[in-house]
Amino acid sequence: MDKVVLVGAGNVGMSYAYSLINANLHIDEFVIIDLNKEKAEGEALDLTHAVSALNKHTVIKAGGYEECDNASIVCICAGRNQEVGETRIDLISKNYGVFKSVIGEINKTKFKGIYLIATNPLDVMTQITQELSGFPKERVIGSGTTLDTARLRSLLSKETKVSPKSIHAYVIGEHGDSEFIPWSNTIIGLNKVTESISKATRAKIQDDVRNSAYDIINKKGNTCYGIGVCLMNITKAILENANSVFTVSCFDERNGIYIGLPAVIGKKGISKIFYLDLNKEEEKQFATSVDCIKTALRAIRK
Ligand code: NAD
Repeated sequence: MDKVVLVGAGNVGMSYAYSLINANLHIDEFVIIDLNKEKAEGEALDLTHAVSALNKHTVIKAGGYEECDNASIVCICAGRNQEVGETRIDLISKNYGVFKSVIGEINKTKFKGIYLIATNPLDVMTQITQELSGFPKERVIGSGTTLDTARLRSLLSKETKVSPKSIHAYVIGEHGDSEFIPWSNTIIGLNKVTESISKATRAKIQDDVRNSAYDIINKKGNTCYGIGVCLMNITKAILENANSVFTVSCFDERNGIYIGLPAVIGKKGISKIFYLDLNKEEEKQFATSVDCIKTALRAIRK
């Protein structure tokens, strides 16, 4: 039986839920947990009607942490979101508190599935989840730079008039202000992007990707649909054992932290991480990202 539990029925959590029920994917049970129990109940009822209208059979309900016992995946989207002008790192102390409480509750259950994390600051929260749960590192996955990668492919598609599906481009590093595009590894139609797109255009694309979330939050207060679909894609890869590659937040043994890198995702979680051949400038950018995450981790360990 495939059961998914969502913790955090806010904008991100419910966009994920809505993407899941609309996806071509078999899920037997979908359970929503939130501090605000009424909200979880209302969302579950609303989605139940959507499932019926879709002629599907997923059982959707609100519940408590005991529902994690036999879950395949627990996806955590609980916690505070960025307000206008805030960075993701600014959310750290509040969301650390949320995670201590949430993972503490899940630790009391028999949950042996896969953790999928969306709460910011993403890489830090993913690492905290692994440490608080004691789970094997391959079974704790953060959404990483999957959303940033989708944003990059959208901009490159606009620039080159090639479908995002045929663009082999990734954003790696921290899901935050130090993330970057390893252009030396970016290919469209077997052509190196460094040979077909000018340095100035690439710099503008990188800025636009980094600033996407700030731009959307300034305009509508939150971002949700993009991450909802990214979380659905990762869930689908796990449940269908697809062995697909996503730039998830995964444990980088070389640096001892969770960070966004391309990795293979299937039924058992992360089965392989691709360490890229970076040029000198990109190596520096990666090191900056590692430092940002380590500094944030030190701040909560003080
Ligand atoms: P939101 O405020 O809409 O929802 C948060 C939900 O968490 C609320 O329903 C709240 O009741 C619940 N919650 C808070 N504390 C809880 C607890 N202890 N136990 C259970 N539920 C609890 O926020 P949102 O817009 O959905 O954002 C959620 C998180 O996702 C934020 O940290 C945001 O920064 C992050 N986010 C990540 C990405 C990404 O790419 N990974 C993208 C967008 C947003």
